[in-house]
Amino acid sequence: KLEGHVAVVTGSTSGIGQALATALAEQGVNVVLNGFGDPQKIEADRQAIQARTNAAVRYHGADMTKPAEIADMIAFAKAEFGRLDILVNNAGVQHVAPVDEFPDEKWDQLIAVILSSTFHATKAAVPVMKAQGRGRIVNIASAHGLVASAFKAPYVAAKHGVVGFTKSCAVELARTGITVNAICPGYVKTPLIESQIVDQAKARGIAPERVVEDVILAAQPNKTFVEYEHLAGLLLYLVSDLGASATGAAMTVDGAWTAA
Ligand code: NAD
Repeated sequence: KLEGHVAVVTGSTSGIGQALATALAEQGVNVVLNGFGDPQKIEADRQAIQARTNAAVRYHGADMTKPAEIADMIAFAKAEFGRLDILVNNAGVQHVAPVDEFPDEKWDQLIAVILSSTFHATKAAVPVMKAQGRGRIVNIASAHGLVASAFKAPYVAAKHGVVGFTKSCAVELARTGITVNAICPGYVKTPLIESQIVDQAKARGIAPERVVEDVILAAQPNKTFVEYEHLAGLLLYLVSDLGASATGAAMTVDGAWTAA
C-alpha cells in the first residue's frame, strides 16, 4: 500500500534515521536521505539501501540548522519524485553538561537541530501534502519529550517543544488529511548514545561501564535498549492508512520508562 509513496527522513545517515529510512524503502517508499558524514560512506549506504529494496533512494545534504537548505531539500523531494507523502523529522544532536556550565552555542545548536528544523521542514512540506489531500508527519521526539533527566536541559526543552509543536500542528491540520505525531523512544544504542556514555561518565565522574547500568538503563524498567525495528513498526503503522485517526499523539516506545 505504501509503494510509490515518497518520504524525507532527516538525519538518516546514521542510527535511528537510517533504520527508519531503510524500513520505509523496504515497503517500496522512495526516500530522500539527509545528514552529515563521510560522502563516500553516505553514497555507499544510499546505494546499498536502493539495491536491496524496490525504492529509489536519493540524498540531500541540507544542514538542518539552515532554514533555506531545509526548504531546498523538501523542494528537491518534490522535484525528484513529483510528490511528498511522509516527513520524518529525526535529525538530532546531544550535549550533556550542568545547566550553569552549558555552552551558549550548544544551546543554540540543539534548539536549531531538534526543534527549529522540525518547524522549517514541516512548514515546507505542508503545502505539498495539503495539495495532495494526504500527508504523514512523524517527529522523532524522545522520552525526554515527556520527562526530564539532569544535565540535558536544552535537549529536554527542545524535545518537549517538539511534542508541543506536534500537538499544535495536528489540531491545525486535522481536516486536511495530514496527521502529525511524535514517537518518543527510550534508549536506543546508536552512535549518539555511545558518545553520551562517555560524556555522562565525565559529568558524573564515574566509569563508562557504570553509566550504562546505573544511569542510562536505570530509567528504563525493562532494562533493555529499544531496537530499531520496534520504532520502525510504529512508524509504518502511523504512515499507513490504518494510522489515519492517530494524530496529535506522543507515542512512547520506552520499556515503561515514562510510566514509572
Ligand atoms: P545519530 O547521532 O546516530 O544520528 C543523528 C543524525 O542526525 C545523523 O544522521 C546526523 O548526521 C544528523 N544530524 C545532526 N546534525 C545535523 C544537522 N545540523 N543537519 C543535518 N543532519 C544532522 O543519533 P540517533 O540516536 O539515531 O538519533 C536520532 C533521533 O532520535 C534524534 O532526534 C534523537 O534525539 C532521537 N532519540 C534517540 C534516542 C537514542 O537512545 N538514541 C532516544 C530517543 C530519541
